[in-house]
Amino acid sequence: MDKADGLSQARQNLADYLRLNSLRNTPERNALLEAIYQADVPMQAEELSKLMTEGAASLRISRATVYNNLKLFEEAGLVRKIFQEDRIFFERTDKNRGVIRLICSGCGKTTEMNSDKVRRQIAVMRTRRFNATGWVLNVYGFCGKCSADLKRKQNRLNKKDKDKK
Ligand SMILES: [Zn+2]
Repeated sequence: MDKADGLSQARQNLADYLRLNSLRNTPERNALLEAIYQADVPMQAEELSKLMTEGAASLRISRATVYNNLKLFEEAGLVRKIFQEDRIFFERTDKNRGVIRLICSGCGKTTEMNSDKVRRQIAVMRTRRFNATGWVLNVYGFCGKCSADLKRKQNRLNKKDKDKK
C-alpha cells in the first residue's frame, strides 16, 4: 500500500466513521487527516495546529478543534498516539504499518524494532468482521542494562547464601 492509497482509504474510513456516529464531515477534518497522513514523522498536536492555521492551508481551525479531532481520529483507528519522554505524538495507522515495541519491565525504556516477517504475517492475517487499520505489538522483557543489573543482584544473593553456609 503506498502513501496515497493509505490516505484515500483513511478518508473513506473517516467518512464511514462520521456517518455511523452522525457527525459532520468538514474540510478541516479532512485537511487535518491529510496533514497527518502526509507527514513522514509522528507529529505533536501543537505542530499540527500550526500547520493548519499557518502556511498553505491557513484554515480557521482552533487548537481545541485540532485536539478534539485527533481524539476522534484515534477512536476511529486512523491515528495512534506515541509517547516519547513526556510528549505525545500522533501518527497515521495503516494495515501494513505497525509498531513493534520492546518495553523494559525494569526501567520502562521503550525501543522500536522492525520485522518484515511479523509485518507480513499481520498483513495477511484475516480479521473477520473487523477492518484493521493499524497495530501495535508490545514485547516485554529487560533491556541490556537491566539484565546486567539483575544478574549482578542475583550473583550477590547467591554469594550471601553461600557465605551463610
Ligand atoms: Zn531497562
